[in-house]
Amino acid sequence: KDPIHIVGGGLAGSEAAWQAAQAGVPVILHEMRPVRGTDAHKTDGLAELVCSNSFRSDDAESNAVGLLHAEMRLAGSLIMASGDASQVPAGGALAVDRDGFSAAVTAKIEAHPLITIQREEMVGLPPIEWGQTIIATGPLTAPSLAQAIATETGADALAFFDAIAPIAHFDTIDMNVAWFQSRYDKVGPGGTGKDYINCPMDKPQYEAFVQALLDGGKTEFKQWEGTPYFDGCLPIEVMAERGVETLRHGPMKPMGLTNAHNPTVKAYAVVQLRQDNALGTLYNMVGFQTKLKHAEQVRIFKTIPGLENAEFARLGGLHRNTYINSPTLLDGSLQLKSRPGLRFAGQITGCEGYVESAAIGLLAGRFAAAERLGMSISLPPATTAFGALLNHITGGHITSDEEPGKRSFQPMNVNFGLFPPLEPGTKLRPDGFEGRFRGKDKSVARKKATTGRALADCRAWL
Ligand code: FAD
Repeated sequence: KDPIHIVGGGLAGSEAAWQAAQAGVPVILHEMRPVRGTDAHKTDGLAELVCSNSFRSDDAESNAVGLLHAEMRLAGSLIMASGDASQVPAGGALAVDRDGFSAAVTAKIEAHPLITIQREEMVGLPPIEWGQTIIATGPLTAPSLAQAIATETGADALAFFDAIAPIAHFDTIDMNVAWFQSRYDKVGPGGTGKDYINCPMDKPQYEAFVQALLDGGKTEFKQWEGTPYFDGCLPIEVMAERGVETLRHGPMKPMGLTNAHNPTVKAYAVVQLRQDNALGTLYNMVGFQTKLKHAEQVRIFKTIPGLENAEFARLGGLHRNTYINSPTLLDGSLQLKSRPGLRFAGQITGCEGYVESAAIGLLAGRFAAAERLGMSISLPPATTAFGALLNHITGGHITSDEEPGKRSFQPMNVNFGLFPPLEPGTKLRPDGFEGRFRGKDKSVARKKATTGRALADCRAWL
């Protein structure tokens, strides 16, 4: 059989290689280290963890990444098996001995009779003659390959930094304070004139907010990250440094908005949130990319009227990160629409994190193997963590009325906001006394019902 070629032996590439080889398909894995290094990797081991040694929560009942662990274990994941074998104590989290983990992955891949490792840098797109190929070169993809990807996909479709604004769960926003309205009630294509959630501030609130941004603790960039500020992407605290009025003339401008709860009083400044996923469960804070520390973001953003009880699916940040605009470029099985047979996997597709990257590698490896074996590809159900993550990457993304065509796709960890809501009438308690649930208990019961549904659907899919 012709081999599948996989470029990049990180979290995603190693898992993809394993899955394809376990399906009986030969694999050639091209990894550039140690021939060429990256700014973050320090060894030549496969699946090196470049920062934390944690795979985050291992709670499969009420945590979305814990659920993803469980689904990956069901699917025979090499990354999870090696993580479990290298576990170090970390409470409810799965943390690993990073050297032991990488050594375990490397040993398994080297020992697999169907996998060959070639230590070489791919300096351009893999040749078409290679047929089934997966690019899994990660957030620090070497520059000449990144350039070749940009040429193939169009320069606008490849990002080198993620400038991420926080994303809140819709059901935690207080709509008795905030209101739906597009600026000047403008109705864009597919819009309703009520596409944004608006949070009003008066003058003292605004001035206190700007001061809090100036005083709040910031994360420092590592030297290799360079200075990623570019037009239209300034962190809010940098805008605040330019003067107290700057934000009010930028992302927090109040023009064209009338407070539906208090129409006669003009807001001094407005924070806008835009729908972030097709389900309408997540909203991102428009223009609020920030380098504030995560705890500081939660503290300061909860002072925004309407967000006092907000829970965040992700917080803002700026990182070096090479990733493609997957929702427009890839089909549902991670294949480049302009070049069938070429798939992407891992963080370069716009997922975020070790576990998510490996999970997307797992899917890409299975899809490529199925195709090589002449079988049809079966996509994971949207109710599973696999499916929720895959749909985030390849599914439709909302673009704004006011900025038509502007990409809204940003990398994200797996989270419950990506799952379809429970079917109406889902029993949250075996005894049927649903009304007894309040607040946190209800939210935990919902998560358990979501994870129970996911694991059942994942088993059926596998
Ligand atoms: P990688 O694991 O980076 O693997 C890509 C592989 O491709 C590398 O081995 C690289 O050498 C190789 N490669 C690149 N270009 C070429 C080429 N042209 N030819 C051949 N091989 C090539 N996630 C977390 O969950 N927790 C964290 O604490 C965390 N910290 C991070 C810190 C930094 C500095 C960065 C950059 C990312 C961090 N992430 C973290 C995200 C994490 O990197 C990724 O989620 C994960 O490693 C991505 O897996 P991947 O397989 O897509 O890429």
